[in-house]
This record gives sequence, C-alpha cells and structure tokens, in this order.
Amino acid sequence: MDKKKIFVTQSDMPSLEEFNKSLEQIWESKWLTNNGPFHTHFEKDLANFLGVPYVSLFSNGTLALMIALRALDIKGEVITTPYSFVATAHALWWNGIKPVFTDIEANYCNLDPDKIEQAITPQTTAIMPVHVYGNPCDVEKIQAIADKHDLKVIYDAAHAFGVEKDGKSILNFGDLSVLSFHATKSFNTIEGGAIVCHDSETKKQIDYLKNFGFEDETIVVGPGINAKMNELQAAFGLLQLKSFKEQTEKRKQISELYRKLLGDVEGINLMKNMNGVAQNYAYFPVFINENFSISRNALYMKLQEKNIYGRRYFYPLISEFPPYNELASSVQENVKVALTKSRQVICLPIYTELEIEEVNLICELIKSWS
Ligand SMILES: *Cc1c(COP(=O)(O)O)cnc(C)c1O
Repeated sequence: MDKKKIFVTQSDMPSLEEFNKSLEQIWESKWLTNNGPFHTHFEKDLANFLGVPYVSLFSNGTLALMIALRALDIKGEVITTPYSFVATAHALWWNGIKPVFTDIEANYCNLDPDKIEQAITPQTTAIMPVHVYGNPCDVEKIQAIADKHDLKVIYDAAHAFGVEKDGKSILNFGDLSVLSFHATKSFNTIEGGAIVCHDSETKKQIDYLKNFGFEDETIVVGPGINAKMNELQAAFGLLQLKSFKEQTEKRKQISELYRKLLGDVEGINLMKNMNGVAQNYAYFPVFINENFSISRNALYMKLQEKNIYGRRYFYPLISEFPPYNELASSVQENVKVALTKSRQVICLPIYTELEIEEVNLICELIKSWS
C-alpha cells in the first residue's frame, strides 16, 4: 500500500466491452465528428439526465466558456472570482474582456454576493461566478443584482455536474452555465464540455459559433471557431451517464467517512453540507488553520511523502498569476477571504474507487500529525 500513489482523483471509465461496441459502430460508419449520431444521442440524453432544456457539446470546458461569453456578446468588464481554476479568467482574457475580481464568502468559497455591487462600473456587462466544489452559489441574490443592473450571468459550472438545489438542476440558473468533462472531473468524456442554455435560438447561435459559423454548406453567419465534441468523446460520455448516480453514491460514502474521522480534529475545518442540495461529492476540501500543529504546506508535503497527493485547489489565486496580478482588483485587501482560504486548503483524495482502508489511512496519518 505504501508504494501505491493515491492522487486527488482518478477518472471513472465506462465498461471497455461496451465502449468497444460503440467503437465498432464508429468504425463501421466512419463518421468521426461533425454532429454525428453519438453526438446527437449524447446531447439529448445529457439534457434529460441533467434536467435542463438545451445542451451544446464542446471539445473542452475552456472553449465552452469562451464561446458562452461570445454568444452573449459580453464585452468590457466581467465580475468574477479569484478562487477558481485559471481557465475562468483565461476565457475572459481571450475575449478581450477585463476580469474584475471580487472576494468570496468564507463558508463555501463562492463569490460573495454582498461584494458584487461595489465592483460594478459603467463597463460591467456580466457576472461570471463559479459553483466552487459543486456547492451552488447564492443564485437568487446574484440574479437580483444582475436584474437590477442589467447584467448577464454566466456560471462556470465545471464542478457542478449533476448538482441539484431543491430538486432542480443548478444549471438552470443564470443566462448560461458551462460544464467541463475533463478527465479529472466527476463526469468525464476524456476531454469535453458543454453549454447549458434556456432556448433554442441561443442554442443555435452557440452551435454556429463552435462550428466556424456554418449555418449550412454555403452560409457562414459569422466568425465561429472549431470547438466541436467528436464521436469518440460522445460515445464515451453516453456510457458514462449510466454509472454516474452509482458513482456519486460511492463518493458520498467516502465524504461521510472523512467527515466522521476528521470532524473533531483540532485545527481542521470542513465545509458544511448545504441544506437542500444534492451534491456530486467531487471534492473533499479541508482547511488547515493556525491551531493545527503544522502548516498547511507541511501537511501537504508530509502526505506526499506517504504517496498521498492531495491538491491545493485553489492556490495560488488566479489574481496572483500574470497578467491578472497587475489588475487593480487583484490587490490583497480586495481578495482577503480568498487569500486566507487558498493558504488553508487541501483537497483530499476522493473518487469512486478510493478504498475505505485508504480513507482510514489518510485520516490516521493526518491525526497523527495533529
Ligand atoms: C476544469 C475547469 C475548467 C476548464 O475545463 P477544461 O474542460 O479542462 O477546459 C474551467 N473552470 C473550472 C472551475 C474548472 O475546474
């Protein structure tokens, strides 16, 4: 066991036998991309599975974010969080949009709605929050602010696959929501992503944009790009849908065991489960405060010495990376809570095939250093 490396996550895979059957169909048809049968099927099944009206599939989540912004013609400044994966801000930068970072709230590390209004300027056109670790943002408050100031809301929902609030998909909030199906996410299509939208006209525009702007053989409606999901990814994803619920249940058990074993450890804060939320248990963040006997980084390194590779999501903050570190909104005083959290967090390993004994071992080690 000492030899085996335990990473923060491990990709769920469909049955190889079933995937081979899909591959045989693809080999037969020789239809590899461009809205093929698997793509069509997956788009439809995914919308049903998630409980959302329209889904557009993408080759990855970052391109989906970039096109979501373009589809709504977002310009100028967008209010967003520094406590996320860099792609959130990169999608803005690649569209020539200036990210304006506002701080997060301390309970769930999501954008603090009470900090948004003070960051609005005449250039602001949208808010791009992230459902960090799959915990829903305060979608009602954010929508109220957006309505009041006539702003669009695009959710980076890369962590929020399958998450429901009061029995309704969290992806139904905002103007658009963007998913990632990267290999490291709770639901993967190797690489992949999607935009969720509310009406067929918007879906049509998004579908043009991801396919060079082609409306048909001879008509290009505008400068689109190539961000299409291919047939192998779609076939892979279709099979993944079958086991997501069961896999979520396994991750839930792991999450509950971590809670039981680490709940009372001095110097460690856990994130509370949100009321009324069906989670996907994709991440298990712990926050190491000054009452723990060693520092967060020391704990992180000691775990690695034992072949346990947690991840410090999200450290450093996006606002600490170039070119964002030059922005006025990146100053420390503006992102205080985010800075504190990023210096405390370690995401512990959690994935479907993580064994109970491995969780026990991880917790025993942490407690032995406490
Ligand atoms: C993974 C991730 C992305 C990027 O998605 P890719 O599919 O890897 O391009 C964007 N935002 C967040 C918050 C992510 O975690």
